[in-house]
Amino acid sequence: MERIADVVIIGGGVIGLSIAYHLGQRKAGKIVLLEKGQLGEGSTSRCVGGIRTQFSTEINILFSLESLKTFDRFEEEFGVDPEFRRIGYLFLATTTSEVEIFKENIELQKRFHIPVQYLDSDEIGKQWPYLKADDILGGTFCSQDGYAGPSEVLSGFARGAKRVGVKIYEGAEAREILVAQGRVMAVRTSDGEISSPVVVNAGGPYASSVGEMADMKIPVKPLRRQVFVTAPFHLTERDIPLTIDFHRGWYFRREVDGFLLSGPLDKEAGLNTSIDYEAMVEASENATYRVPAFENARIARGWAGLYEISPDNHAILGKVPGLEGFILANGFSGHGFQHSPAVGKVISEVIVDGKATTIDISSLSIQRFEKGELIREPVTAFKE
Ligand SMILES: Cc1cc2nc3c(=O)[nH]c(=O)nc-3n(C[C@H](O)[C@H](O)[C@H](O)COP(=O)(O)OP(=O)(O)OC[C@H]3O[C@@H](n4cnc5c(N)ncnc54)[C@H](O)[C@@H]3O)c2cc1C
Repeated sequence: MERIADVVIIGGGVIGLSIAYHLGQRKAGKIVLLEKGQLGEGSTSRCVGGIRTQFSTEINILFSLESLKTFDRFEEEFGVDPEFRRIGYLFLATTTSEVEIFKENIELQKRFHIPVQYLDSDEIGKQWPYLKADDILGGTFCSQDGYAGPSEVLSGFARGAKRVGVKIYEGAEAREILVAQGRVMAVRTSDGEISSPVVVNAGGPYASSVGEMADMKIPVKPLRRQVFVTAPFHLTERDIPLTIDFHRGWYFRREVDGFLLSGPLDKEAGLNTSIDYEAMVEASENATYRVPAFENARIARGWAGLYEISPDNHAILGKVPGLEGFILANGFSGHGFQHSPAVGKVISEVIVDGKATTIDISSLSIQRFEKGELIREPVTAFKE
């Protein structure tokens, strides 16, 4: 392993690899990426790949629009088909306050020319007749949303990063970050020490442990989400959007010949990634409530993964006051996959140019928590 680097990235998920690729492209010197296990083994491999522009804050919309540019030309740039399927996202509202919020969101989204439509209950019932629609008051649909393959995107970034000269080490755990006179100096790993003036925390759900290595408190908590997949099941010949029953916090989409059904999100933080029977029952109940035909579907498998939740469900990005050279790319709160292209780009700008220029990320600084300037959303953000 290298003993000297210009940048060390801790974490080999989609975020760390996107940053590595963008830094390599910018010729930012010797870039080393450390992954304690295998690339993608954290949240990235558990992700369901959702990509959308239907967000309720400007900053998330900006990250989506910038990232879409990359997803659209991914194969050209990385030589890997990301399997991006633009099936659309359909958000369903079942309360009057949700209808109001959705309408406010549309106003914001239209300011960014996002082709989102508001649909009333009759239109939803007509377009997607397999949905139980009698309690649906309305919904929003955007055809440019969809999903891509997390492992395809991860391997595209990994391939791109290697091509531009990044050194990637798997089975290499960062154990200590050495600091002197208010700046990072080196990373002590399971395989020796690497001195570097810049260290990036891309630890996903482990962001706070990586922060502790530099004596920094990063307010990111791991939170389990369970997901289930049915055996092959025929619902309709029509296109099926990724459909979100907002009130129930439940969503589904096609997955090969069956369907992917979201399970519950834990209430307490923790690192447990097993699945449980109660969660499967909850997922089935939500599924048969909204799509009665699912009564005849059988759950074949499931998995669980960890979101990396920040106090306001928005990313924590950029420099850290008082600790020069320590860069954060954390707290994506369930949206890190879809925002990874733009995150890689802006973090490379922070490191190379001293400041992000593609998107103003000042509102995502870690200082916002200290200053009480948390980002506010009309309701708690939806998480895929
Ligand atoms: C069930 C589920 C569904 C999701 N669906 C979506 C979705 O539809 N759309 C979306 O945008 N997002 C989704 N997400 C969120 C998305 O998966 C994450 O935001 C994203 O993968 C975060 O990437 P990351 O690289 O920051 O983290 P990870 O992929 O977790 O990568 C961090 C890596 O750091 C490594 N690491 C940690 N500590 C150390 C150390 N000390 N030394 C070396 N390596 C270390 C870990 O092993 C890990 O591989 C979902 C998440 C879950 C759990």
